[in-house]
Amino acid sequence: MTTDLNCESCGMPIESGHYCQFCTDERGFLQDFDTRFAAMVDWQQRRTPDASRETIEAETRSYMSGMPAWRNHPRLANA
Ligand SMILES: [Zn+2]
Repeated sequence: MTTDLNCESCGMPIESGHYCQFCTDERGFLQDFDTRFAAMVDWQQRRTPDASRETIEAETRSYMSGMPAWRNHPRLANA
């Protein structure tokens, strides 16, 4: 049996639950928006070191606004 689950926060494939290990704290709860946003911006900055911070932050907001964990988050209301 194959599973077809993705983390509801970042989209990474996972085997069970709702979120991957990177998006949760040590108790298994989803981290807050600012923590995840900062981590995803840093990750994207490493992948595309020539892109501006503003571009990456805009792209990250756009990406997160499509994720079930964040799409109704008030911080994304104006994205
Ligand atoms: Zn995740």
